[in-house]
Amino acid sequence: MMRSPLVAGNWKLFKLRAEAAAFAADLKGGLSSAAGVGIAVCPPFTSIDVLATGLAGSGVGIWGQHASAAESGALTGEISMGMLKDAGATGVLLGHSERRQLFGETDAALADKVPAALAAGLLPVLCVGETDAERESGATNEVLARQVREGLGKLSPTQADIVVAYEPVWAIGTGKTATPELAQAAHAWIRSQLAERFGEAAGSIRILYGGSVKPDNAATLLSQPDVDGALVGGASLEAASLLAIAAAARR
Ligand code: PEP
Repeated sequence: MMRSPLVAGNWKLFKLRAEAAAFAADLKGGLSSAAGVGIAVCPPFTSIDVLATGLAGSGVGIWGQHASAAESGALTGEISMGMLKDAGATGVLLGHSERRQLFGETDAALADKVPAALAAGLLPVLCVGETDAERESGATNEVLARQVREGLGKLSPTQADIVVAYEPVWAIGTGKTATPELAQAAHAWIRSQLAERFGEAAGSIRILYGGSVKPDNAATLLSQPDVDGALVGGASLEAASLLAIAAAARR
């Protein structure tokens, strides 16, 4: 089944608004080098509108890094899916390992967030991945199966308009990249789990690889049949570097 490649940059807690505006101009200027590849950027909330303005009409996605399932309420510090959409976002990362590890994000909470994102008109991007200890103990497939089954547990079989990001926790920000073979095996396993919920439509769900993806290692990872793109942290802070990774994803 045809899946067009998608490369997304997660800025984490970096960049002020002026830096975001400069990035948008650089990215827009270089987009032709990555024609045919979907691109998205996940800025801090305060720069969503800056990117929405700077990238208007470019087709570049703008994703929040996190959101609440609640529409409103006494939830100091939270942000809703509708607020992200209102600010100009087109999607949202859900369950990034830093949210799971540092902020207590659970599979049960994610089960509510995924349909809430769809209801607000945002593309949900569910992040999954095993820790070093889980891989060492042979629990990888079980962990990935649980994260997929529970995180997507409240979607109907027809709600397959989602993206999944496989990010082994041991590879995030560490410079340790999964081998292409290891990434392919995990992606194929995740797709088999998606098929349990979505049937044939699992074949059209894009699964991105994340974990120390750089311009010089992107091509071999992205050449794997079930690796449909990349979720990039550190190497997404410069537009040229994100574009080089996107160019490597061209089919
Ligand atoms: C990430 O933040 O999702 C990520 C994969 O980070 P890095 O590319 O820096 O490992």
